[in-house]
Amino acid sequence: MVRDKKTELRRFIEEQEVHFPTRWDNTKLQSARDCPRFCFFRHFLGLTRQSGTSLPAAFGVALHMGIQSLWEGKSVEEATHLAYEEFNKSGLLFSTKEPYTAERIPLVLMQWRDVYSSHQLTMLKPEVGFIFPLSDEWDYYGRIDGIFQEDESGTEGIYELKTTKSKWWIKPNPHNQLDGYLVALSQYQGRYVRNAIVDIIELQVRQTNFYRRETWRSEERLQLWHRETLWLIQYMKNCYDYGVFPANTGHCSSWGGCQFQDLCTLQSPRQWIKLMPTYDVNPWKPWVADEEDSGISLNETKKGGEESDI
Ligand code: SF4
Repeated sequence: MVRDKKTELRRFIEEQEVHFPTRWDNTKLQSARDCPRFCFFRHFLGLTRQSGTSLPAAFGVALHMGIQSLWEGKSVEEATHLAYEEFNKSGLLFSTKEPYTAERIPLVLMQWRDVYSSHQLTMLKPEVGFIFPLSDEWDYYGRIDGIFQEDESGTEGIYELKTTKSKWWIKPNPHNQLDGYLVALSQYQGRYVRNAIVDIIELQVRQTNFYRRETWRSEERLQLWHRETLWLIQYMKNCYDYGVFPANTGHCSSWGGCQFQDLCTLQSPRQWIKLMPTYDVNPWKPWVADEEDSGISLNETKKGGEESDI
């Protein structure tokens, strides 16, 4: 009986011509850790019911644009203008839901500039995308918010900006995304890069708090991330080859309730076909690597997709 189920899902994979992803980013890897079956629905089949951008994500992307502009030396007014342009792309610019309102943006930008005006940090390169081979078969890609240099020591590292409703949700260590980005930058620089800074903007209804966390990783730790990531992708490859994507039901209530619950409750993959048209097919593409990308490269990014890791 168990063999039949495996065969059925494997047959589904073949009939639907579902390919195994060769490029992995932090979002895909995290969904594989959280629930392999969710990862299959979202990142192998490309299904979603959340094609629109959420208000917190749209606000976060706009704020990213504003902060990036401040790093480039633009005024708060210019940064606000650019942030509004970005916010407007989501169609949510006129939201009145606190704390995600357009009026909040110049206030946050002004406060951020004042809080960090005396910090001796230079942004060498903001918003950089990368792709590098994890193995002969699989690549890792992503987008780093910036590469910084400390003015006094000359130390370089990666900079990440996170907007959140509670700072307690963001722990810079352990943190798979930071590990992976440090591995990427180390590969690119040809030497071990260990430092990272996480700027946390905590958005509460009546106030905004700013926290800057510095963290670092040993070389061994980064090697471990590489091994663990290859192990995880190989695990997903085994799931794909055998036609078994285990359900982690401990995550069904995560993400505000899993969007794939109705598919997941069906008794067999054969029945998925009927329900699949109720989903959009919108593959996860947070940014697009240039076609000529090969090996290790850091590129200017083209943003896209409906999800955000902010
Ligand atoms: S409903 Fe639960 S088990 Fe099914 S895909 Fe979603 S998180 Fe995984």
